[in-house]
Amino acid sequence: MASEHITIMKNLCVCPECKNNVDLSRYPSVTTGMVIECNHCGMTLLVKDIAGGKIATEIVDEGK
Ligand SMILES: [Zn+2]
Repeated sequence: MASEHITIMKNLCVCPECKNNVDLSRYPSVTTGMVIECNHCGMTLLVKDIAGGKIATEIVDEGK
């Protein structure tokens, strides 16, 4: 386990589609199970897990 010293209490979310950091300023309180949208590619992302300021997301396949 890496012992990163996190000083900035800001959640970080990398879009799994375009690999950009999603602008979370539109989502002040991100919680698990919440659906957010990537401001770069417009992909809809489901928040799977939040740990250590990093948000893990999964692409929501809504094209069905
Ligand atoms: Zn994206």
